[in-house]
Amino acid sequence: MAQSPMWKELTATEIRELARRDATVIMPVASMEQHGPHLAVGVDTVLCEGVCRLAAEAVQNEMPVIVTPTLWCGMAEHHMAFGGTFTFDIPTYRAVLMAFLKSIERHGFSKVLIVNGHGGNISALAAFLPDFAVETGLKVRATTYFELAQPAIDPILDNQERIRHACEGETSLMMALAPELVRRDRLPEAVGPSHSTPRPLGVARYRPYRSFTETGVVGDARNATKEKGDRLAIVCRDAIVAVLQDGEAWA
Ligand SMILES: [Zn+2]
Repeated sequence: MAQSPMWKELTATEIRELARRDATVIMPVASMEQHGPHLAVGVDTVLCEGVCRLAAEAVQNEMPVIVTPTLWCGMAEHHMAFGGTFTFDIPTYRAVLMAFLKSIERHGFSKVLIVNGHGGNISALAAFLPDFAVETGLKVRATTYFELAQPAIDPILDNQERIRHACEGETSLMMALAPELVRRDRLPEAVGPSHSTPRPLGVARYRPYRSFTETGVVGDARNATKEKGDRLAIVCRDAIVAVLQDGEAWA
């Protein structure tokens, strides 16, 4: 049987050997937040780790890779009003990520792909990249898997374009990767507005989810299926694999 690519399932000896081979480190970062009436709050953490594991398993015969434990807390102030949610503030999030990266660097790895699975983390991660470059010797790359795979995701969804929140896409993925965490009897309520951030062009403002969705859902989960979830998992896996293998991304 192939060795697990998951950091938490390996011995320190096995991890040192992967560092010696200059394995690419995949670092999933996610969230713990409300996902409507029908999904467990761990969705982003479960899905992000799930697609990272699939990508690592797909590629590990061709190149050494390792997946760190998933950071289960992120920037989620906009979900707090619904309950069930943890959030960092910006200085704490930056400090935690920097501590993870410095630990990885001290063990001799040189390349880290941060794979994000939560919309609320996107702008923070982008803002931290200069600090990661200056304060570590690592090559750090960051991506959000459902943005990376978006061209392949859109044709799979019937009710919406792109992945929204607790929506057709996330619910289908959960049916595929963690079906025990989907409350199917609550699916009829699992619908919300089709967009989360209506705003005039060029003007930024903060909008908590409570102000535009009663259910906590953005999008429409009512015809989510496991079959769509299986297809979504594959296109997300393949998009991450493509980055791992893309010489230009690591130049
Ligand atoms: Zn989510």
